[in-house]
Amino acid sequence: MKLLVTGGAGYIGSVVSAQLVEAGHEVVVLDDLSTGHDDAVPAGARFVRGTLRKTAFEVLDGAGFDAVLHFAAKSLVGESVANPAKYWDGNVGESLALFDAMRRAGVGRIVFSSTAATYGEPESTPILETDPTRPTNPYGASKLAIDTILTEYARLYGFGAVSLRYFNVAGALGAQGERHTVETHLIPNVLKVALGEKDAVSVFGTDYPTADGTCVRDYVHVVDLGRAHLLALEDTESGAHKIYNLGSGSGYSVSEVVEVCRAVTGHPIPAEYGERRPGDPAVLVASSERINAALGWKPERDLNQMVADAWAFARR
Ligand code: UDP
Repeated sequence: MKLLVTGGAGYIGSVVSAQLVEAGHEVVVLDDLSTGHDDAVPAGARFVRGTLRKTAFEVLDGAGFDAVLHFAAKSLVGESVANPAKYWDGNVGESLALFDAMRRAGVGRIVFSSTAATYGEPESTPILETDPTRPTNPYGASKLAIDTILTEYARLYGFGAVSLRYFNVAGALGAQGERHTVETHLIPNVLKVALGEKDAVSVFGTDYPTADGTCVRDYVHVVDLGRAHLLALEDTESGAHKIYNLGSGSGYSVSEVVEVCRAVTGHPIPAEYGERRPGDPAVLVASSERINAALGWKPERDLNQMVADAWAFARR
């Protein structure tokens, strides 16, 4: 297939681009490099620098694309609370421009990077796709709004859309890995200590209602996550918007993650136990029964593998 990957210079977008190239697809990456890196775009993919608003139609029009994988987004929860307009414009405004460009260019198949943040604080665990969506920050709200637009565009314009709701993504695929300028995620921050870039990892909160008092999250290896996108592409069906969670059905606490990082790196990784980070739910674990039943997807790589691959990437 000929595929447009928005945000293909970012962490997950670059991994999926590499997997798509490997699977024999023709890949064009569109990215404005606001947070991505052009050297993350895999060899074998064509790179176009630009925003969705200014460049998507130009790239799509008359060029024979079969589908779009849409990763480009602002994704920092804290920043979204401080500057909501940046998220409504950067996520919803830019996505709407992309969907409009797709409509005008006659490209109706799309796989979209949605998020667990659309659910907000869960009432029960593991989270099902049928659970209430009550995001607790503008980031989650903006992603939920895009899901809603896709439901409408499937109904009104015959789009065939799949939203994949990511839980916690970790690991790397060779040269493609996580390197955010502002790094908020747990595993890369823990590995910075092992690399000697930081003295200790801050553990946010020790009084949650969990076995060891630290937050529990559902971690999925980026390679497993990427595989789901290739399956989802085949699942796009005109007039339908499907939503699938991507998780493992079980979780690890922050302390357990730090422990795995110590074992993998052989570094003592000192931890400083501090206050809760505002807005963090105690437990976020996904049921992935739906995508397992529909597409046969299930994660194959465990936390050890995620940390080992993230560690190999961090040392490059
Ligand atoms: N966390 C932490 N220290 C850090 C970064 C994260 O204790 O330096 C915790 C965070 O509070 C949450 C978990 O690790 O409970 C996962 O956070 P992350 O930002 O990686 O992903 P999120 O679940 O927020 O999407």
